[in-house]
Amino acid sequence: MAGRRIVVVGAGITGLAVAHRLLGDHPEFDLLVLEAGTAPGGRIRTSPFAGLPVDEAADAFLVRVPWALDLCSELGLADELVAPHARTASVWLDGALRPLPSPNVLGIPLDPASVADGILPPEALEQLSGDGRPDTALPDGDLSVGQVVRPCVGDAVFERLVDALLGGINAGRADDLSCGVMAPQLLAAARRPEGLLTALRSAQQGVDPSAPVFNAHPSGMGHLVDTLAENLGDRLRLRSAVTGLGRTDAGWLVGTAKGVEVADAVVLAVPAFVAADLLTPIEAEAADHLAQVPHASVSLAAFAYRRSDLEVPGDQSGFLVPRDAGLLLTACSYTGSKWAHLDTGDRVLLRLSAGRIDDPRHAEMDGDALERALAGDLATTIGVEAPPAAVRISRWPRSLPQFAPGHADRMAAIDSRLAEVAPGLLVTGAFRHGVGIPACIRSGIEAAAAVAGHVA
Ligand SMILES: Cc1cc2nc3c(=O)[nH]c(=O)nc-3n(C[C@H](O)[C@H](O)[C@H](O)COP(=O)(O)OP(=O)(O)OC[C@H]3O[C@@H](n4cnc5c(N)ncnc54)[C@H](O)[C@@H]3O)c2cc1C
Repeated sequence: MAGRRIVVVGAGITGLAVAHRLLGDHPEFDLLVLEAGTAPGGRIRTSPFAGLPVDEAADAFLVRVPWALDLCSELGLADELVAPHARTASVWLDGALRPLPSPNVLGIPLDPASVADGILPPEALEQLSGDGRPDTALPDGDLSVGQVVRPCVGDAVFERLVDALLGGINAGRADDLSCGVMAPQLLAAARRPEGLLTALRSAQQGVDPSAPVFNAHPSGMGHLVDTLAENLGDRLRLRSAVTGLGRTDAGWLVGTAKGVEVADAVVLAVPAFVAADLLTPIEAEAADHLAQVPHASVSLAAFAYRRSDLEVPGDQSGFLVPRDAGLLLTACSYTGSKWAHLDTGDRVLLRLSAGRIDDPRHAEMDGDALERALAGDLATTIGVEAPPAAVRISRWPRSLPQFAPGHADRMAAIDSRLAEVAPGLLVTGAFRHGVGIPACIRSGIEAAAAVAGHVA
């Protein structure tokens, strides 16, 4: 309906996806995006490092789900996307880097013969040669990843591979993470009568092994954000933190330091704890649910080494470090091997991650201490003793929401409560369907459809 005013709060990828979809489907709406920061993108930021556009957080997105790829197609960016050059990775186990088995689904090896020596004990390999049926049927409803994977393929596969991979993605403990959110395909496969492994093996038959799992943009993920922001023009207002929400007969009131905006509908596309603060005066119970979503803090360091000081395998994308390995490092990406556009020739670029939901040590270290600790972990794992020629450290406090089992039901309860007591007010973001960029875009697209339905 013409003249309807919609305010989107937050210009991270979720808020930008909401705005993009509303702009495309409903150009008649009067749209305004309010962003607290000095630039759009939130947890997506690309900046120069060693003369190249190197991402400070997300550097790629999953292409086996549609949302990010579809958005890039709509923006005319799909032809510019690139796939990783190096596709194999390793895991640091018992003091050595060992190749991740291939094929695997979220760390679960589908062929025991592909598992290199030293990764799993013989009884785990024996279990992997079976069908992956648990001894007793899994309970109904959402379960943690651990509750699904441990009974089907054993504790060793879970702890040495699945937790390292899945827990690494959002710095969580896979024993505490909702399988319905983090790995719905595992939950569905584990409930198949033929067993988890048989179901995963048959699903794998339809997958082209040469098809890339991830794509990136050679100018960095910031290019996606910048393209979305440019399309919004002056509908995007930076340095405009929303400090309060209210309601009158005229509609929703959205308060910033610069004044109050009146809107027919508001989409909060901000972290769950920010949404909780804004919602508290309006719907305390929904606010309380959002406030309880735990968030992990992480740090991401870019290290550039002189090639004379370090060589890494050109066919490897990097390695993961399981939680009990005793290191601060959680993952190391051989950035220049992984992405041809980030191969500098004279420098070897690495991106190093630190921080887990239960390991905040990195956040307590200053930049020098963090650099020293990560350099020490690199000396342990890949044997580099020379100091890096350049270092950049990016801090991401409270950046990765953790999804406890039952998360989707709690989100649905928040939605229905808001629809009842605060119609026209929606909450969305990385805390909804998952932290990955495609999941955020999906959350944004769904919020755009819901808000359009509300004001139409
Ligand atoms: C280190 C790291 C690496 C990652 N790597 C990957 C990866 O490789 N691939 C992948 O798919 N995903 C990755 N992710 C996850 C992904 O980047 C994030 O989940 C996603 O970018 C979150 O987007 P969002 O819009 O939901 O939230 P945010 O990016 O947090 O955006 C929220 C926005 O709201 C703004 N805001 C907050 N409060 C207010 C207010 N009061 N008023 C107005 N505006 C406000 C913030 O400034 C921010 O811009 C990574 C995340 C991190 C931290």
